[in-house]
Amino acid sequence: MKECNTTIMKFEDLSLSKPLLRSLETAGYETPTPIQEQTIPPALKGRDVVGCAQTGTGKTAAFALPTLQRILDAENRPNTGSAKRRQRSGRRVIQALILSPTRELAGQIGESLETYGARTGLKSTVIFGGVKQHSQVKALQRGVNILVATPGRLLDLVNQGFVNLASVKILVLDEADQMLDMGFLPDLHKIVAQVPEERQTLMFSATMAPEIRSLAQQWLRRPTEVETNPEASTPELISQLVYSVDRKRKQKVVTQLLMDPKRTKTLIFSRTKRGADKIARRLTRDGIYALSIHGDKTQATRRAVMKKFSSKRPPVLVATDLAARGLDFSGISLVINYDLPNNPEVYVHRIGRTARAGASGQAITLCSHDERPLLRQIEKLTGQRVPTEKAPMGSQELRAMTRKPEANEQESAVEEKPVERRKKSRHPKWRARRKSKSARGAAGNGSSRRKGTKGPRKKKKTGKRVTVNS
Ligand code: AMP
Repeated sequence: MKECNTTIMKFEDLSLSKPLLRSLETAGYETPTPIQEQTIPPALKGRDVVGCAQTGTGKTAAFALPTLQRILDAENRPNTGSAKRRQRSGRRVIQALILSPTRELAGQIGESLETYGARTGLKSTVIFGGVKQHSQVKALQRGVNILVATPGRLLDLVNQGFVNLASVKILVLDEADQMLDMGFLPDLHKIVAQVPEERQTLMFSATMAPEIRSLAQQWLRRPTEVETNPEASTPELISQLVYSVDRKRKQKVVTQLLMDPKRTKTLIFSRTKRGADKIARRLTRDGIYALSIHGDKTQATRRAVMKKFSSKRPPVLVATDLAARGLDFSGISLVINYDLPNNPEVYVHRIGRTARAGASGQAITLCSHDERPLLRQIEKLTGQRVPTEKAPMGSQELRAMTRKPEANEQESAVEEKPVERRKKSRHPKWRARRKSKSARGAAGNGSSRRKGTKGPRKKKKTGKRVTVNS
């Protein structure tokens, strides 16, 4: 019999220096993810890398760790006269530029760099549009080794003379396909033209569309190709389900799905910004704590929403596809597609918001009759048939589908309709009334009399009396 000899790679095997290894230990990372295993060694040797990886696979550390390591090496062994002079003066210049399509993703990359580089003494900053530039300019003037930027704001600051890209040795293009989708190609061309040709380029994309391949040919030199998941595959740990439902009933179905107090962290996708706001408003009206996030919200609001979503009591988050890419919302266990995306690849990114870093998750898609062709396209792309059911009618049935069973809950347990209870009000006025009522009851014959009536309230003869515990 063949002996199975699989050795698990450790971060220590990847030639990373102690400050980085210690930060990874603090972050709780034990072993590199497949994209990290494949990207870090060639990137550390200075090779260009083009990586195709799904979101949530650890892509950020795959480019951030070798970037930090190579800058550290360059700082420790300056090999040019100007590098030696600069080091003696203690002045920082931008050695690595990381481009990201959205402000949120740029922010998250910045946070990751701070985590991984905490013990390196290297400085990074993040610049993006939608906010005043003053504090960003100040941070740039103090000097940084790594700059994370969205293309528009970067060009703005380059044109105003606040950013000089002449010392960049490492260029990272993250979520390249989304940058193209968002119309950043002309900006990208201008930026790449400002970065020295003698550089290392790392390019990551969730899909390898022909345009991405063509850019890789123009901007990368004999890159190592890294692909950890086949194009458009859906993570295996996500259980997927489609509910076939009338468009008009979608909101009701979502409300019912989310009524369960044991509901887990949920992200709902809407195709439009107005739709996202409407869904969140209706959920709030139905007593479910919900917030929306999309491109029309100010940066301050978006940041506040993200903060609330990572708190211990997160709202249900309703997002447009802006949030489907790149963002690391950890701990999402349910993704609901309120409507189907026009582009089937977007479905894969949306449901990839759950089941991140090896966790499991659930994706429920509400599909109306007119959206069926879009569903077929998704199934064709992923090569998987998604189980489709009619949306359950009753709230009990729906809840049972999303709730994790309690350890002591028997599968065969018969569902009972819970007795309706009214919550006791804490208001002093009602507390005092309750007190005096029970005092009257204790002092009298046990039944309370209404003012102006001659005897205890009589039970109606017809119909059942509902017991309300007050
Ligand atoms: P990313 O794909 O870079 O957005 O990463 C997704 C999530 O995985 C983030 O929360 C990371 O902190 C986490 N992560 C990345 N690499 C590792 C690792 N090697 N071990 C454990 N968690 C990781």
